[in-house]
Amino acid sequence: MGYQIKKAAVIGSGVMGSGIAAHLANIGIPTLLLDIVPKDAEAGDVKARNSIAQGALERLLKQKPAPLASKKNLALLTAGNLEDDLEKLKDVDWIIEVIVENLEIKKNLYEKIDAVRTQGTIVTSNTSGISINEMAEGRSEDFQKHFFGTHFFNPPRYLKLLEVIPAKNTLPEVIDFMKEFGEDKLGKGVVLAKDTPNFIANRIGTYGLLVTLREMLNRGYSVGEVDSVTGPAIGRPKSATFRTLDVVGLDTFGHVAKNVYDQTTGDEQKVFETPAVLTKMLEKGWLGAKSGQGFFKKE
Ligand code: NAD
Repeated sequence: MGYQIKKAAVIGSGVMGSGIAAHLANIGIPTLLLDIVPKDAEAGDVKARNSIAQGALERLLKQKPAPLASKKNLALLTAGNLEDDLEKLKDVDWIIEVIVENLEIKKNLYEKIDAVRTQGTIVTSNTSGISINEMAEGRSEDFQKHFFGTHFFNPPRYLKLLEVIPAKNTLPEVIDFMKEFGEDKLGKGVVLAKDTPNFIANRIGTYGLLVTLREMLNRGYSVGEVDSVTGPAIGRPKSATFRTLDVVGLDTFGHVAKNVYDQTTGDEQKVFETPAVLTKMLEKGWLGAKSGQGFFKKE
């Protein structure tokens, strides 16, 4: 079967979903961006029901570095919500799930997608490290043949790496298609990864971040000191260790560390234990740049 992506849908309009949708618009692909309905939005109030994804689209014009290559590309993006617009998923060629990093919540969504999607439609997850095989469990045969991981990095327009993670039932030709599409159309360097906890980049990256955080606390360094020696001073672009974590989102970072913790044992597991300082920050609602406060306060 020859695959092509003429239309796409991104589900989840947060940090990554909005950025991935913008990147699809940058290469000319009309994309539907869906999120949940806010609790207080009444039936029939379309504006209120679409407000989460709509708000995300409006923020694209203010973000730096700009997620859209041209303001005009915004016209290719349509906001909607998962309750009223589920049927619209029938008409797209690629559905990308970019919602909260939680296996049960993601599986619940796949069940809904499986019930409406057209056979042959590609469905991928942007998970940072949850098992792709576990997410596919219980789904129809056709869904499983077309389901795998596409792990973009933040910010999606600028970071070139795309991890592609096949599940055991994914058709090899679907993976071949995405490898070519990812490189030729999305402009990414595609790396095929096995379905192991956190795949490749986040397995190494999360390890490094957790060790850095602990070393900082044990040795009495400050956040500013660590960032000053892990940023532009050593040739990395603007964001250093903790600024990067603020951009990623501390809640997401916590989930990603826990992914590995839950799937390992012994010494290997120890490193991935959630540091007490992170738990305290999350309890205070310090989620990083998206909440205005993380390791740094938003200026
Ligand atoms: P986020 O918290 O910024 O956004 C999540 C969005 O999902 C929110 O808009 C929320 O309303 C929506 N959502 C929550 N539950 C939903 C549901 N049941 N149905 C539909 N929408 C729902 O999160 P994010 O940082 O964009 O992360 C999303 C996914 O991408 C996660 O799997 C994460 O691990 C992965 N990821 C994140 C980063 C990063 O740097 N933040 C990088 C790579 C991958």
